[in-house]
Amino acid sequence: MIYACQTKYCHYLFYGSQREAACPDCGKKQIRPATRGERTEFFRLRTEFLPVGKRSG
Ligand SMILES: [Zn+2]
Repeated sequence: MIYACQTKYCHYLFYGSQREAACPDCGKKQIRPATRGERTEFFRLRTEFLPVGKRSG
């Protein structure tokens, strides 16, 4: 599940389980489940860091 940090200057998006109740970036416990739009943003950002195309070795 994707979570969003609610801390004012953090807004960190991260993947975690229900037990993970604190933001891995700032350590605050003010997190909430990410909205659909935030999840889309999360995956978009992650895929942008991946190299384009396949490596052929
Ligand atoms: Zn945070």
